Amino acid sequence: PPYAEYIRARIRTVPHWPQAGVMFRDITPLLQDKKTFRVLVDIFVHRYMDQKLDVVAGVDARGFILGAVVAYELNLGFVPIRKKGKLPFDTISEEYELEYGSATVELHADACKSGDRVLLIDDLVATGGTMIAAANLLRRIGAEVVEAAAIVDLPELGGSKLVKQEGIPLFTVCDFA
Ligand code: 5GP
Repeated sequence: PPYAEYIRARIRTVPHWPQAGVMFRDITPLLQDKKTFRVLVDIFVHRYMDQKLDVVAGVDARGFILGAVVAYELNLGFVPIRKKGKLPFDTISEEYELEYGSATVELHADACKSGDRVLLIDDLVATGGTMIAAANLLRRIGAEVVEAAAIVDLPELGGSKLVKQEGIPLFTVCDFA
């Protein structure tokens, strides 16, 4: 999309964090700068403003920052998909595999209505496990995931391909090979 290179240029790469061998793509410079933050939010707002969405779901924790602002600008509500043990009410869970071990994401059972058209937002797609688990939670309560969206795709990890194979349309602003 337009502005993809503008956004990409302001993502910081932190080598060997959180562990040796990982090149962490740090989005905090994007959020910190008033102009890049506005351009970033506007990319998503323009893409979804005519999609007749019902709600925006964001993934714990960086998906909350972008997701909540996009929801507000689209005049929609916001639903959090959280890491295990954080939600107080009736929840449903999805466990997924990590390189070492597993992780669980949770959603309140009443987070949206059956048939709701949902936009799912996170900051980055790596192996795709988080996005697929989050989409599965929404689907289990009857929501339609109109699109999953993130700022960054790491295509070499194959996650974006897997997400699409699961029948989840995916939009990312830029990628890092
Ligand atoms: P996946 O489940 O696709 O393997 O990993 C994606 C999840 O891990 C996202 O929730 C994302 O926030 C986090 N993540 C993994 N690697 C990175 C990275 O390099 N940068 C950022 N900002 N988040 C990452």
